[in-house]
Amino acid sequence: MADVRIVAKAMDDLADDWHWVLLVGAQELEPRVYFAQLVRTACGLLLSDTPRVVRLFDMGAPAEPTCPGCRSDGLDPALRAAILEAIKSAEAVPTG
Ligand SMILES: [Zn+2]
Repeated sequence: MADVRIVAKAMDDLADDWHWVLLVGAQELEPRVYFAQLVRTACGLLLSDTPRVVRLFDMGAPAEPTCPGCRSDGLDPALRAAILEAIKSAEAVPTG
C-alpha cells in the first residue's frame, strides 16, 4: 500500500480551491479507482477517516493546487496547524 497524491477539490464543493488530496494507504482496484484507509488534504482537511473506495473523476485539475495551504508543500501538517494557530492568535491581539 502506498500514499497517492492527486490535485482535486475537497469533496463536492466546486467553489473550493484545488488541493493536494492524499489517499493514505491506497490500493489501486482498477484505473482511477482506489481503496484508501484515509483521505485528507495536504493543508489538513480530513475528508474521510474510514476506509473507503475513492473513484477519481477527470475534473480538469491543474498541475498544481490553488489552495495556499497545499502549495506551501513539505511542511508537517501538525507544524503547519501550529503556525496557522499562532498567526490567528497574533491577529486577534488588539493593536490599538
Ligand atoms: Zn488545501
